[in-house]
Amino acid sequence: MPRVLSPNEKKCIGCGLCVIKSSLIEGSTIDLGKAFIRIYGRPKSYIISVDYGKKTDFKDIVKICPRNCFEIIEK
Ligand code: SF4
Repeated sequence: MPRVLSPNEKKCIGCGLCVIKSSLIEGSTIDLGKAFIRIYGRPKSYIISVDYGKKTDFKDIVKICPRNCFEIIEK
């Protein structure tokens, strides 16, 4: 079974660090167009969108979130 990044939207504060980090994983510079995570919505109702067409099980994403919104699971 593939390992994937699983988000918990209830804890998200919309800081965008995971988006920036996912962009840096894809390339050497910050380019939000290449990020495999996107954050939508507004405070208390953020939506975390993960592009599962790409590899997502990066521990660096789990570590960078100040709210511990991510875990890596087998799907
Ligand atoms: S790093 Fe965590 S709190 Fe910040 S936007 Fe991403 S999921 Fe939300």
